[in-house]
Amino acid sequence: MTAPTEAHKAFPRTIAIDGPAASGKTTVGSLLAEELGYLCVDTGIMYRAVTWQALAEGIDLEDEESVTKLAEQIDIDILPRSVEDGRPFDVLINGLDRTWEIRSPEVNQNVSLVSSYPGVREAMTRQQRKIAERGKIVMLGRDIGTVVLPQADLKIYLDASVEVRAKRRYAEEIARGNSVCLNDVIESLKRRDAYDSTRKVAPLRAAPDAIVINTDTLTVPEVIAKIKEILQQCDP
Ligand code: C5P
Repeated sequence: MTAPTEAHKAFPRTIAIDGPAASGKTTVGSLLAEELGYLCVDTGIMYRAVTWQALAEGIDLEDEESVTKLAEQIDIDILPRSVEDGRPFDVLINGLDRTWEIRSPEVNQNVSLVSSYPGVREAMTRQQRKIAERGKIVMLGRDIGTVVLPQADLKIYLDASVEVRAKRRYAEEIARGNSVCLNDVIESLKRRDAYDSTRKVAPLRAAPDAIVINTDTLTVPEVIAKIKEILQQCDP
């Protein structure tokens, strides 16, 4: 963990949390936002939504132009959860609840390709910046601290080994009644991380002024406690 910089001194209104797949961003970010009375925006949902909709419409995912056109037109809504089935939010695509569909293995397999298209990223980034303008926000993703909100008041980068992340994701899937194989989860995370961190536009990486927290040996409450400790230092 590195020390907060001068930019972190005022109480943060915009908190960026980045990190690789299954590093705990959604769990930590949504609980933290709830405690602070902030809005939590998980930007991974937006890339997943574009991917799911493209698959549903039978669009060839290699067809960058068609996928980009879809990203420019799609209507994605992230709302407080209406069902207590383990979901952190409701996700509506063009008005319909697609909360679990966007977590399917098919979406996991294709989302990195879709999110590598510059036009798709431009459309999503535009929407993300507009949402963040309101302040009091915790925004989660891969490029929030580096590209979407480089002026964020506080930047956290959550990291963990691929084995630990895979075990957590595996446990979540089993708890949801899905049958998965741990090795498949490990391979899927590795593939997605490799793709996300080597793409040309907005690759996964910690901003130079991000505070890196390795969560390998930390529980969710411990990670939140650490972030709150950092927030205390930010309080004027
Ligand atoms: O966070 P989550 O695993 O739901 O993200 C799904 C995918 O969306 C990532 O693997 C990545 O390809 C893409 N993504 C991105 N930039 C973000 C958030 C997610 O490229 N800010």
